[in-house]
Amino acid sequence: MARDEDVPQFAEQITRHIKKMIVSGNGAIEAQYRKPTGAPSPIFSDSDPLGEEIRFSPVKGLVHKYGNRILWKVSYRCAAHCQFCTRARQIGTSEGDLSEADIQRALAYVRSHPTVDDVILSGGDPFFTPTITATILNGLSQISTVRAVRIGTRLPVQSPLSFETKPLLKLMELLGQFKKNYAIFILIHFNHPTEITDDVVTVINRFHNLGIPVLSQTVFLRGINDRFEILRDLFRSLYFTRVIPYYIYRCDYAKGLERYVCDLGTEREIMTRLTSELSGIAVPTYVVDVAGRGKIPIPLNYWTLADETRCTDFDGRLIELNVG
Ligand SMILES: *Cc1c(COP(=O)(O)O)cnc(C)c1O
Ligand code: SF4
Repeated sequence: MARDEDVPQFAEQITRHIKKMIVSGNGAIEAQYRKPTGAPSPIFSDSDPLGEEIRFSPVKGLVHKYGNRILWKVSYRCAAHCQFCTRARQIGTSEGDLSEADIQRALAYVRSHPTVDDVILSGGDPFFTPTITATILNGLSQISTVRAVRIGTRLPVQSPLSFETKPLLKLMELLGQFKKNYAIFILIHFNHPTEITDDVVTVINRFHNLGIPVLSQTVFLRGINDRFEILRDLFRSLYFTRVIPYYIYRCDYAKGLERYVCDLGTEREIMTRLTSELSGIAVPTYVVDVAGRGKIPIPLNYWTLADETRCTDFDGRLIELNVG
C-alpha cells in the first residue's frame, strides 16, 4: 500500500480571471477548480484511463488510435488545473515537455504516414505554450498530406486577456497564414454558461475574424452542469456566439474523479430533452470515451434498443414505424 506522501497530488492552480469569478461567488467555477475541504486526496491508481500511453503512442507526444487522425499532446501544462481532468496525474508536470528532437521525431512520423490527414493538438493547452505550438504548426504546414489541424484549448475561458499578449497575437497571426495550408478548427472547452464572458467572446471573435471556425467540448459534471436548464443556456449561448457544440463527454471513470461523475440516466434524459428543444446544430454528440476504444455515442431515450419498429417522439408518444 502506498503511504499518503507517495500518492500523487493534483495541485490547485487558477488564473486571475478564474479567481475573480470564484471571488464574485460563482460556485460552478469554484467546484471545477477548488478541492472541497475535507475531500479525500485523489488516488490516481488508474492514471492512464484511456490507455493512451501504453498502446497507442508511437513516439513521444503522439497518440495514433484512428487511422487518419492523430492526437498530439504538445505538453502537460495548462493555465489553470481543472480538478476533473482525465490527465490529472500528468497536468502541471514537465513529463510531457517536448524537445526540438521530440518534435522532429513526431513530424517525421506524421510525414511517413500519409494516411494521417487530420492532426489534433491537445495537451495540456497548446495556447499556453505558444512557442512549441508555433514550431509544430510550422512543421505540419510542410507536410502536404495534412489537411486539417484542430487545436483543443481552455485558455480562452481561463485567461481571455492573455490573447492580447505578444506571444499569442503572434500565434494567431500564424494561424491566419497556415489556414491556406490546412483547414484549422479551434475547439474550446466550456462547461457552464457563466464561462461565456464578454472577454471570452472577444477571443472567439478574433478566431472568427481570421476565418477560423470555433467548436466547443463539454464534460458532464455532477452538481455543476447536470441540469437541463444549465446546458440549454450553455449550448444556446454558444450557438448564438457562432460556436458549434461538438462533443459532450461523460466524465471519465478515473480514480479520484468520482465526485464529478453524474448519474447516467439523468444525463440521457437531459440530452434527450435538449435534442427535442434545441436546433440540431446546438446539440453536441453525447459520448463516453471508452478505455482504448474511442468516443462511443450514448443512446438517447427515443428508442428501446431491442425494438426497431417503434420509437418515442419529441412529445414522449410511442410511434409505430413502417420499417421492414
Ligand atoms: C478524440 C480523439 C481523436 C479525434 O476524434 P474525432 O471523433 O475525430 O473528433 C483522435 N485521436 C484520439 C486519440 C482522440 O482521443
Ligand atoms: S484545461 Fe483541459 S487538459 Fe488542462 S487541466 Fe483542464 S481539462 Fe485538463
